Amino acid sequence: MTGLTVRYGDVAAVSDVDLRVADGEVVALLGPSGCGKSTLLRAVAGLERPGGGRVAWDGTDLASTPVHRRGFGLVFQDGQLFPHRDVAGNVAFGMRMHGVEREKRAERVDELLELVGLGGYQRRRVTELSGGEQQRVALARALAPEPRLLLLDEPLSALDRALREQLAVDLARLLRDAGATALVVTHDHDEAFTLADRVALMRGGRVRQTGPPELVWRRPVDAEVARFLGCGTVLPARVSDGVATFALGEVRVGDANGDVPDGPVRLGLRSTALRADPAGAITGEVLEQVHRRDHVRLLVRVGTAEYEAVAPVAAAPAVGDPVRLSADPDGVAVLAGS
Ligand code: ADP
Ligand code: MG
Repeated sequence: MTGLTVRYGDVAAVSDVDLRVADGEVVALLGPSGCGKSTLLRAVAGLERPGGGRVAWDGTDLASTPVHRRGFGLVFQDGQLFPHRDVAGNVAFGMRMHGVEREKRAERVDELLELVGLGGYQRRRVTELSGGEQQRVALARALAPEPRLLLLDEPLSALDRALREQLAVDLARLLRDAGATALVVTHDHDEAFTLADRVALMRGGRVRQTGPPELVWRRPVDAEVARFLGCGTVLPARVSDGVATFALGEVRVGDANGDVPDGPVRLGLRSTALRADPAGAITGEVLEQVHRRDHVRLLVRVGTAEYEAVAPVAAAPAVGDPVRLSADPDGVAVLAGS
């Protein structure tokens, strides 16, 4: 899509977005709630009319191509299955619309249910499936007519967290196995990074950064993007030979090839950037501590400033205790625009 803009009344929900999805590529549209992700996806699907710019496939403008002729598959947050049809009936629906004959349909349904891990579920009622199973059926249904592009809008958001993490891994594998080209909307960075070959970060209706997950994670383009990606603290630093010197000491941020040039930068610190470490060079005092699943989060005063830090559950200091910290490069991002 180029220069794509979608307005609701006077308000642009999507502004001037340029984004390409390559054949076989999975791109995640990642951004906070309300930033325009669904609107963008709906415009690609043909469900919203662009107020400017265009959506094209292989160079062909799709402005006059209606939703059902675009050859795109759609999956929404709640699968929107047909409650009165069984699993096979749901999966076969699109193929029936396309006039695929009965035997071929049944064969393809079997194949797709195997692919999504629901082999043998053909005759089950969809109302008797768990949320995760329903989303798998919705995915199989969308894949059935072999769409040239799969559009997924928060496909896992309605599920509880443990299931979501597992299904994100399954979905990533499944999209690869199916060789699918896909645009996936999510507000969850873990999910985006699990699924995508490339992430497009949206904010305020605009795409602010695109790149491979690792790059976006380690080199957010500005402080706003960094904050969205979990960097609660942004600090000035100076880089020399790949090592950044900042208020709390030193941390390696670049490789030996000078991927981070010498000079002033801004560092984004995630909550895991500082770790309790008896041998750490940073000393502070614990102000707060909260137990999480597999670690303890701390708020630590160092000098006159306060920082987030993490400690192992087995050796978590108490509030009021002194604590030593070291900086963990994995929790530190370098802002690309700095
Ligand atoms: P996201 O999917 O990122 O949460 P949306 O694309 O749903 O965001 O919404 C982007 C903005 O457009 C929001 O401010 C939302 O309130 C507004 N919006 C979405 N749909 C409509 C609509 N049908 N009419 C008016 N405003 C809308
Ligand atoms: Mg949305």
